Amino acid sequence: MAYPGTVLFDLDGTLVPVDMDFFYKAYVKEVSTCFASIVPPDAFREALLESTYEMISDLNPAVTNHEAFARAFSRRVGRPWQEVWPVFQNFYQNDFGRLRRLVPENPHARTVVTKVLESGWEIVLATNAIFPEVAIRERMRWVSIDDLPWKYITTLDNMHYCKPHLQYYEEILSILKLDPSTCVMVGNDVEEDMIAQKLGMRTFLVEDFLIERGGSGLKPDGKGKLPDLLPFLTQLAENDSSDESANVAPGSA
Ligand SMILES: [Mg+2]
Repeated sequence: MAYPGTVLFDLDGTLVPVDMDFFYKAYVKEVSTCFASIVPPDAFREALLESTYEMISDLNPAVTNHEAFARAFSRRVGRPWQEVWPVFQNFYQNDFGRLRRLVPENPHARTVVTKVLESGWEIVLATNAIFPEVAIRERMRWVSIDDLPWKYITTLDNMHYCKPHLQYYEEILSILKLDPSTCVMVGNDVEEDMIAQKLGMRTFLVEDFLIERGGSGLKPDGKGKLPDLLPFLTQLAENDSSDESANVAPGSA
């Protein structure tokens, strides 16, 4: 029996109710201010964006996302990482929390994740691993899910790959020794999140902040608003147990 197994949740646009383009612009504006004495804001913005793409494209299994970003960003701004990383750290610790004003409450996040746990599933936070843990924990607090028993939270430092690469999902499966046929990936981005089905995971698309660039051919197994995940999981588990009883030979019970 495969279910209940593990539910992997995306964060932004799935549990945190935010349009990422809008949030990212505000984030870049805030963080560029912190760098003003080192890098002019326009040059900073360009270096941040291009270094992020470079990190996402780096598929070297020996290089963490942090290392890939550090190398790209230092090269672009012409400053050693030991000089710029403390500025990022200071921003995440002291200023990042101000962005909360842009994010409305989402009472469904805690309710749904708690019910998933109560139904016997384990939970993983599969947010794109482009932020340090401090910034991920902060966003988790905005929707009151930071204290829940997450099996793993993917971060800039503990991952070697980013979405939408399959290697990102393979790395989670490998770290947690999970069978993909016991996993359900829940996210709002067709290309970045639903791609997990290529490894044999089930997928559920949360449509409130849907991102779909088109042409991927990826069809989620279920979709709807976040609370619609609950009946979807119940159905999966029920179908699974009826498959199981169908396999029992007559008279063997
Ligand atoms: Mg998302």
